[in-house]
Amino acid sequence: MSKQLILALSKGRILDETLPLLADAGITPAEDLGKSRKLLFDTNLPDVKLVVIRATDVPTYVQLGAADLGVAGKDVLLEHGADGLYEPLDLEIARCKLMTAGITGAKPALARRRVATKFVKVARRWYAEQGIQAEVIKLYGAMELAPLMNLADEIVDIVDTGNTLRANGMEPRELIAPISTRLVVNKAAMTMKHARIKPLLERLGQAVAVRR
Ligand code: ADP
Ligand code: MG
Repeated sequence: MSKQLILALSKGRILDETLPLLADAGITPAEDLGKSRKLLFDTNLPDVKLVVIRATDVPTYVQLGAADLGVAGKDVLLEHGADGLYEPLDLEIARCKLMTAGITGAKPALARRRVATKFVKVARRWYAEQGIQAEVIKLYGAMELAPLMNLADEIVDIVDTGNTLRANGMEPRELIAPISTRLVVNKAAMTMKHARIKPLLERLGQAVAVRR
C-alpha cells in the first residue's frame, strides 16, 4: 500500500462546507475544484490527493480502498452500509433530517403503504421496525412529486426547512434519523497509514470543534 493518502469528497452541496474544514486541517487543493473538469486533484501536500465524486459513490471508493478517507452524508452511509469503513468523525456540516412525509392532512394508509424514496434499504428497514407493511418504490429524484401523482402514499427523504415539502402540499411526519456529514476511513488504511491519518483526524476534529 502506497503511503499516499487519497481523500474522496462528495460533489454537490457538501463540498463548499468541506473545503474550509480541510483548509484548517492543512489541506488545500492545488487548483479551484469548481472551475475544473478534472476529478483527481493535487493538494499543497505532496502525499495527499483529492477525488471529487458523486456523494453516493464515496462509501464505495473508501470501502474498496481506492480512497483512504472520504466525506459523506450519514444518509448515504446508512443506505450504503458501513462494512470496511470506520466513521471516526462527525464533521457537523450539512445537517438535515431523514424523514417520512406525506400529503398535508392525509391519513397514512392503514394497510399496505406505498413509499417512494431513493433510500430504499433505510426505508424498508424503518417501516419493518414500525410494523408497517410498505411497498418501497425506488426513485432517483423529485420524491415530492410521487404522492401528488398518486405514485405513492408517503416518501422518505432529506428534510431541512420543510419548504420544498410545503411548496408541494406535503408535511413532514416521522423522524428516521438526524443527518450530518461524516469522515469515513478505510479500515485497512487506518492500520497501515495510521501515523499519517491520526494527525489529520486530530486537526479535522479541532476544526470542527472551533466551529461549535
Ligand atoms: P445528491 O442530490 O446528488 O444526492 P446533494 O448535494 O443534494 O447530492 O446532497 C449531498 C448530501 O448533502 C446528502 O447526502 C445529505 O447528506 C446532504 N443534504 C442533502 N440535502 C440537504 C439539505 N437540504 N440540507 C442539508 N444537507 C443536505
Ligand atoms: Mg440533492
